[in-house]
This record gives sequence, structure tokens and C-alpha cells, in this order.
Amino acid sequence: MEVLLPRTLDEALAIKAGRPEAVPIAGGTDLMVALNFDRARPPALLDVSRLPELRQWRRKEGWLVLGAGVTYARIVRELPEVVPLVQAARSVGSPQIRNRGTVGGNLGTASPAGDALPVLAAYDAEVELASAGGRRTVPFNEFMVGPKKTVLRPDELIVATHWRFVRGPGSFSKVGTRNAMVIAVASVCLVLDEAGHTVRVALGSVGPTILRAPDAERFVAGALAAAGWWDDPRATLPAQVAREFGERVAAAARPIDDVRGTAAYRRHACGVLARRALVWALEARRAA
Ligand SMILES: Cc1cc2nc3c(=O)[nH]c(=O)nc-3n(C[C@H](O)[C@H](O)[C@H](O)COP(=O)(O)OP(=O)(O)OC[C@H]3O[C@@H](n4cnc5c(N)ncnc54)[C@H](O)[C@@H]3O)c2cc1C
Repeated sequence: MEVLLPRTLDEALAIKAGRPEAVPIAGGTDLMVALNFDRARPPALLDVSRLPELRQWRRKEGWLVLGAGVTYARIVRELPEVVPLVQAARSVGSPQIRNRGTVGGNLGTASPAGDALPVLAAYDAEVELASAGGRRTVPFNEFMVGPKKTVLRPDELIVATHWRFVRGPGSFSKVGTRNAMVIAVASVCLVLDEAGHTVRVALGSVGPTILRAPDAERFVAGALAAAGWWDDPRATLPAQVAREFGERVAAAARPIDDVRGTAAYRRHACGVLARRALVWALEARRAA
């Protein structure tokens, strides 16, 4: 197996144009598992872990641009204010996995259980793709089209993901079979957008792709508006709002039974996680 070591993004894209069968490797925390178990034997690996363009993040005109090669450990250290993303990053694997694993790799694998992905979905993130022929930007919900399926073309690389910075509380939480080193049985990212008066909820591990819960989002944003909560976070909400929000989020899940959990358990877990996330967000804004 050849290992190709480009030093710049342009060099990597030129190689990909001539050798589309070369498989990108970033942290290798998914790919090396597949190679070790003989699930994949690509003729060539294209190491993208040294490309400076992929290792950067920056703020630009109210947007956060996160290079595909930024690791989870760096997200935790360098982006503490992006709370849901940090919570997702912290929950990935072990310190060793977080030191190597990248958001670009999570996108490349496109598992419905990928922990960074509900956060990208809740932020309405875009995925920036590049080939030798040019660049294109795809909304996250159009990038991932099925379990481990994306619209990435063989000659393209994932360069970055971007989203407009959202002011307001939010969280990522997941349920697994234990507390650490665990693949999500269900996960929920909730983001409250104080400027837009909207609520966004994304669900992981309970469908073929990451799911949003638009009915629950509209319901709770409307309930917050009716209570005057957007203007005054001390406003009291009817007690049943959080419960009904949880039920509506659970109804949006499309889980299956598998070795990690039953569909019924996953649906229930989504409802509980969503209800808790809403309560945390309301308390966080009230305390701010
Ligand atoms: C022990 C262990 C625990 C884990 N725990 C978790 C967990 O808790 N949560 C979780 O979400 N994941 C977990 N994972 C999976 C993995 O760590 C993550 O999916 C991680 O984000 C993969 O990133 P990577 O850089 O290592 O990707 P790689 O393994 O290098 O690549 C993954 C895929 O993405 C493609 N790819 C990578 N970069 C690019 C690019 N720039 N352009 C195009 N394609 C690209 C590769 O070709 C490959 O198909 C775990 C893995 C292990 C081994």
C-alpha cells in the first residue's frame, strides 16, 4: 500500500485528481480500525493530517470556520465558548483518540453515531469541499445522505465546516452503555438562538442520518414566545412545556433495534435527553 504525503492542500488536491482511489487519512482513528480488521484495503492512503489549511480554525464576519483537521483535543482547549461542540468533543473516545481524531474524519465516516455531527446539524453548518477543479459548499443535511454515505466525490477532500455563530445556551449529551469510551445509543444537541428566537434540536444514533425535530423546535420556540421568555428569561413556563417538548423530540426519532439498544429505548432516551437539555438551557440563560 502506498502512503502519499502532500505538504499543502493544493498538492493533496492534485494527487486526488490523478489518484481518486487514494483514501484520505487524518487521525486514522476510524480508518486504521477498518484496515486492521481487513474491512478495507485501499491501494493508497493520502495523509491529510499535515495540511496547514485543514488544521486551522478562525472567526470570520460572525462565522466560525473549523478546519477539517482540527482535533477534538484542540476543540476542547481552544474553543471553550462553543459549549455543545466542546461537550461532544469531550465525549469522544479517550484522550488518545481525542488527540488524533478530527471533525473532518467524523464527517468522512458519516456514522449516525458520530458525536460531532448533531452539533453541526443543530448549528445549520455547511461543509466545504474542494477538488483540483474548485470548491463547493454543501449544507450539512445535504452532505450526509445515509449511514456512512455522503455526497463527497472521489476527487474531493473535506476542507472545513462553517456556521454562523449563535448566541444562546446549548448542550450536547449522549446515552451509551457506559460513561466513557462509548458509541452513542442516542444523542441530542440543543441550541437556543436568542437573536432569532428559535430552538434547534438534532438527534444522533436514532436514524439513518442525523435528524432534526422541526415540530418540537417550533412548539418550544412558540411556548417561549407566548411566555415572554425571550425578553425575560425569568418568565415562568407552563410545567408541561418541557415534558411535551421531550415527547415531540422522541416522536422525531427513527431508531432501529441493534446490539447497542432497542428502538423503544432509543426513542425514550431522546425524549429524556431533550427535556433535560431544555431545562439546562433555560436555567443557564436565567443565571447569566
Ligand atoms: C477507541 C475508539 C473510540 C471512539 N470513540 C468515538 C466516540 O466516542 N464518538 C465518535 O464520534 N467517534 C468515536 N470514534 C471514531 C473516530 O474517533 C471519530 O469518528 C473521528 O472523528 C475520526 O476522525 P479521524 O481524523 O481519526 O478520521 P480517519 O480515521 O482518519 O478518517 C475517517 C474517514 O474520513 C475520511 N476523511 C478524513 N479526513 C478527510 C478529509 N479531510 N477529506 C475527506 N475525507 C476525509 C477518511 O478517508 C475515512 O473514510 C472512536 C474510535 C475509536 C478507535
